[in-house]
Amino acid sequence: MIIFQSLTKAEFAELLIPLSTVRRSETDPEVIEVKKRKQAKLRAQQIFHWVYQRYITEWDQMSDIAKEVRAWLKENVQIFRLTESYGQQSEDGTFKFLWKLNDQKTIESVIIPAALREKIGEEVIDALDDGKRFSGVETEKAGLNKDLDGDSWARLTACISSQVGCAMACKFCLTGVQGLDRSLETHEVVCQVLELRMRAPITNIVFMGMGEPLHNVKNIIKACQIMLDEDGMNFSKRKVTVSTSGLVPAIEELYEHTDVSLAISLNSSTNEQRSQIMPVNKKWPIETLLAACRKVPLGGHRRITFEYVLLKDFNDSPEDAHRVAKMLQGIPSKVNLIPFNEHSGADFKRPTDDAVLKFQKILINKGYTATVRISRGRDILAACGQLRSLFGTARGTEKHRDFKPQDAAVSETQA
Ligand code: SF4
Repeated sequence: MIIFQSLTKAEFAELLIPLSTVRRSETDPEVIEVKKRKQAKLRAQQIFHWVYQRYITEWDQMSDIAKEVRAWLKENVQIFRLTESYGQQSEDGTFKFLWKLNDQKTIESVIIPAALREKIGEEVIDALDDGKRFSGVETEKAGLNKDLDGDSWARLTACISSQVGCAMACKFCLTGVQGLDRSLETHEVVCQVLELRMRAPITNIVFMGMGEPLHNVKNIIKACQIMLDEDGMNFSKRKVTVSTSGLVPAIEELYEHTDVSLAISLNSSTNEQRSQIMPVNKKWPIETLLAACRKVPLGGHRRITFEYVLLKDFNDSPEDAHRVAKMLQGIPSKVNLIPFNEHSGADFKRPTDDAVLKFQKILINKGYTATVRISRGRDILAACGQLRSLFGTARGTEKHRDFKPQDAAVSETQA
């Protein structure tokens, strides 16, 4: 059985060509071929609309598709659904899902809501803009609605997984501790967004859940093509962000085939430091990575996001901030600082608020946009790999059997 969500629109149209019909009076083989292709393309567009924009997952309900075509699709093509095995909403509105795949392996996705500015009030906005933490208490004070409807939130970001586990072994990351089980197929990536969209009006997608997306680049390229397709999920290229730990050749491959936004998990100001926490740096050091970033065809005022997990007394000094500012010179960029969320899978500590704000200020004074990632989903294990670990379905679970929900907070990106 072919899986519908594993195909781009062009691939699906190819599949439909033999089902196309032309008038018997038409005898010119070239004309027949052109007409059949045109019909197949139109049908593919219609069916993409049904699935990705109207969320119809039964062939029989696609009323404008010919009966005989529907019958063939029913026999040969499956519209895939993920099985939700767990879903929980945090006090701050973050919603975490655990999906069971056909081989019983599990993956996670998170919906991260961002409040409407007018709803949260100037006081809280100022705190956010200053990089202060936006705790659940502030959320409550501002009277936010926790329901996931489009009127309550300015942005609903879907943070999705690209692999079951991860091979990159970043030292600060719980998924890194677990190791790689397998990469996800295109449809398993696409369906995370589809399932979330059936539950909430998702506005943005970030590949910052479990796994290194560019270690699964072929499937991620196809998934991005479906997400950006105007007949498919119809996301703007600005709203889909692939985050990588720095697989340089795959960055180039990604941009040969699709045009999404890019985030780099930088996390260090020197190669020595980075190689200690990110083994990928030994193969593609910072200067090679930044050279690849300089070649990314951004255009239209787009910027690359550099994620920087701040680890106490390791990479959080003012000297580190100055080095980061220097190395990013000339790259249209913004820096997202992520104070480390302590967990039992790593020995690092969270930096002090003072150190975080100082780091941020140095970058801002150097002319960068530098934001501080607020902790989200602390009460529901919304960090990558954490929910899966709790349920004992990940590799290396025995390493943190003592894991407690209060240990966790979101790292919607650690990659
Ligand atoms: S931070 Fe990202 S790339 Fe590194 S181990 Fe974790 S999931 Fe993999």
